[in-house]
Amino acid sequence: MLGGTTEASLLARALADAGVDAVYSYAGRTAAPVTQPLPQRIGGFGGVAGLVDYLRAEGISHVVDATHPFAAGMSRNAVEAADLTGVALMAFERPPWDGDWTCVPDIPAAAAALPQAPQRVFLAIGRQHLDDFAMAPQHRYLLRLVDPPEGPLPLPHTEIVIDRGPFRLEGDVELMRRHGTQIVVAKNAGGSGARAKIDAAHQMGLPVIMIDRPQIPPRPVSATVEGVMDWLGHPTLLGV
Ligand code: NAP
Repeated sequence: MLGGTTEASLLARALADAGVDAVYSYAGRTAAPVTQPLPQRIGGFGGVAGLVDYLRAEGISHVVDATHPFAAGMSRNAVEAADLTGVALMAFERPPWDGDWTCVPDIPAAAAALPQAPQRVFLAIGRQHLDDFAMAPQHRYLLRLVDPPEGPLPLPHTEIVIDRGPFRLEGDVELMRRHGTQIVVAKNAGGSGARAKIDAAHQMGLPVIMIDRPQIPPRPVSATVEGVMDWLGHPTLLGV
C-alpha cells in the first residue's frame, strides 16, 4: 500500500483488522510519520525499475495506491510497474470536491490567479511548491506545514503554523480569522481530512483558488475503504 494520506490511514486500519498481509509505504517526506497498524517501509523505491524490483522481491500480488491525488509521480510509476509485473493495481482515491471557486489547472496558474494588490493568503499546498509563488512576493502567506521548514523560504512574508490533518471546520475558521485570511489557495484533494479550510472559506465568504488534480493514466479506482477491501477479497462492514 502506497500511503501518506488520512484516507490511507483508514485503509491501513481496515487491512490490519482483516489480517491482510500488507506493508505500508511512506515516501519519507515528514520527520515523524503517523505510526500505522501495519509493517512500514519508508523511502522511494528508485523509480519504476526500483518499484518493479521491490514488487518481485517481496512477492507482492496487489498494490493499492492510496497516495495523495497530487503525488502524480508515484502514481504514474505504480501504473507502469503494475503493467510490467502483472501485479494488480487499484487506486484508493476520494472524488474531487465540487464547489463554487476559481479553478486553475496547476500550481503556477494558482500563483498567477492571485490579485495584484497585496492580500493575506492561506496557501494550503504543503511546502514542496512554494517556489511557484515567488512571482507574487507582495502577499502575506499563511503556510500550514507538517514540519518546520529547514531552510529559508522563497517567499518574503510568511506566517507558519505547524500542524497535521485531519482538520476541523471550527479550528480552521479560528485560524483564518486570527491571521486575517482574505483568500485561500488549495489543491483539490477530495475527502474529508483537508476539506475544513474550504468550508471555513465559504463560511467566511472568502474566495478560493482551487488547483485541479494532475493527470494520471487510467487505472481502477475505489473511493471507499469497502471498495478496496472487496477488491482484495476481504469484504468489510466498516462504515467509512
Ligand atoms: P510524488 O511527487 O508523486 O513522488 C515523488 C517520489 O517520491 C516518487 O517517485 C517516489 O520515489 C517517492 N514516493 C512518493 N510516495 C511514496 C510512497 N508512498 N512510498 C514510497 N515512495 C514514495 O509524491 P509527493 O507529491 O512528493 O508526495 C510524497 C508523499 O506525500 C506521498 O506518499 C503522498 O501520499 C504524500 N502527500 C502528498 C501531498 C501532495 O500534495 N503532493 C499531500 C499530502 C500527502 P521513487 O521514484 O524513488 O520510488
